[in-house]
Amino acid sequence: MKRLCFRLLLVALILLVLPSVSSARAGGGHDYGGGGGDGGGGGGEGFGILLYYLIQLVIYRPAIGIPLLIVVIFISIKVRKSARTGIQTATISRAGRVAREREQADLESRLTALESGDPGFSREAFLTRASSAFVEIQKAWSAQDMSKARRFVSDGIRERFELQIGMQKAENFRNDMSDVKVVSRRIVAMQSDRAFDTLHVEIVATASDRDVELSSGRVLRSRPGEPFTEYWSFLRKPGARTAASGGLVEGLCPNCGAGLELSDQGRCAHCDSIVSSGEYDWILAEITQAMEWGTTGNPSLVPGWDDMLGKDPAFNLQHVEDRTSVIFWRYIRAHFDSTVEALRKVASPEWLDEFAKRQILSRQGDRWLHFREAAVGAVEVQRLVPGPPGGRDRAEVLVRWSARNSMRTAGGKVENAGDRMIRPVVFLLERDSEVATRADMTFMSAHCQGCGAPFEGGDSGNCSYCGRVLNDGSQDWVLTGMEAFDPSRFVPASVDAIGRASLVPPDLVLAAMASTMHSDGEIDPSEEAELRRFAAANGVRPPDFDEILSSVRAGAELPRPGTPKEAREILASMVRMALADGKVQQSELALLTKFAEASGLARADVTMVLARERADLFREAKELLKNRGRS
Ligand SMILES: [Zn+2]
Ligand SMILES: [Zn+2]
Repeated sequence: MKRLCFRLLLVALILLVLPSVSSARAGGGHDYGGGGGDGGGGGGEGFGILLYYLIQLVIYRPAIGIPLLIVVIFISIKVRKSARTGIQTATISRAGRVAREREQADLESRLTALESGDPGFSREAFLTRASSAFVEIQKAWSAQDMSKARRFVSDGIRERFELQIGMQKAENFRNDMSDVKVVSRRIVAMQSDRAFDTLHVEIVATASDRDVELSSGRVLRSRPGEPFTEYWSFLRKPGARTAASGGLVEGLCPNCGAGLELSDQGRCAHCDSIVSSGEYDWILAEITQAMEWGTTGNPSLVPGWDDMLGKDPAFNLQHVEDRTSVIFWRYIRAHFDSTVEALRKVASPEWLDEFAKRQILSRQGDRWLHFREAAVGAVEVQRLVPGPPGGRDRAEVLVRWSARNSMRTAGGKVENAGDRMIRPVVFLLERDSEVATRADMTFMSAHCQGCGAPFEGGDSGNCSYCGRVLNDGSQDWVLTGMEAFDPSRFVPASVDAIGRASLVPPDLVLAAMASTMHSDGEIDPSEEAELRRFAAANGVRPPDFDEILSSVRAGAELPRPGTPKEAREILASMVRMALADGKVQQSELALLTKFAEASGLARADVTMVLARERADLFREAKELLKNRGRS
């Protein structure tokens, strides 16, 4: 009796499972690799007969029938699973294509809207101006005099150049960029939010690049004049109009048209307007080596954004990021000088005290730590925490930078420039909750937000013109702390594989992978090759990849999972990147598995995370495809 029950149960199972085999095939895409080939239906009647015989076998010749049945069930489950994977893969990759097409169409429609709102704007004329600005900045840089380029750049950019120039002067050399030729330039993206329109311009240029000793004019170093690419981001208020006669780049006031005489407060001497506000003309606010598809395009990705905007209507990420750039370069300068002076007006006194103590500790006699050839890869707001009335607002900003550790001596000598290392750090900024952002001062981050005077003098935290206290958060954001970019900041939602905007840049995910895999003491050549492929597939440039690898080998402080949960989150971030084109390649799977092993996870974790992220992305992809044509 029991045996008969068992056989009947098996028959029922056959009936349940088998139709799914046929429907999976009819649905197409049963191939393991995905890509959605046509499966070809066929089978119909012949299938029914086979089924009949299988049932007969199970009932009357169970010794053959039952093992056969088990095999059939096993295969059908496999086929069913891979059919689902195939559909997911195809949908995700289709959504990716649609997102890219949409990005292109979006750029085109935004530019068209810009042209219709501002009849004086022409793409070609804009690009010509961008090229002039580019050439002019290279000239100012080579001559070590930024005053001529000051009118069309933000404080963040100006300070970056001025502080670097200041350090070069102290080291008795200048970097000479001559024969600058713009090989190509194009608008690669446009973003708009309530505060600003942003045009991202890709500039490919060549130049003869030499370091020249100031005192003797002797050439110290010269580098081959290979083409280099930079991304320049120009910002302007929505609704601004292009002045027919020319604007900031041409040396004219974009508001009144007079030849521009710029006051210390950044005002036109004729009409008194603040010209670098972006209200009248484009301001250069960011220069990057690689295009960052960060949060600027979609500020609502940043936790706390809506609440901050609710209480401070002029609040914008651009100011926080420009301000952070200013603070960052002053931080580098403070290391160079081995005093806190450069930071006095932008960091809280409490933090400065701590910093000064650390500075003393890092001194070795009359030598101290200095970050040589510092460069910033990205400045991105990660989180905003609005404070209660009477309390403090907080902003957490990722600064991803790199430099060579070296020692500087009191005599001005620089020694031991080590390998270039990447350093992801979170700058913690605070201000009084009552402070309201001044939209017209967005790019004047190194000026008193009260009276507009530039930050000068180092011995006090007050404005040297109006006396306001600048470093207590009563006027603007000030630095109150620094944290390592730790793994707790990796959440899969912050790595958007389809839309590409993300809170965690791909190279940090890569850095986390590499540093985890290095925890056994080495990254072998095959692991390195897999990492390199992963980097290339995710838009991390070869020099950036090399920097990550040498940082890992030099023991840089990079995010590395401390708990299984963190390991799973980083794994999920990697999976999302790998899945951007829909499928995970064999070599990517091998890499994911090695990461999992190195961080103490099981293989099953990889399978589980992979399935979960694929399902999530599939859902997002369907959503994106459903909304097609709506935007
Ligand atoms: Zn004017
Ligand atoms: Zn002031």
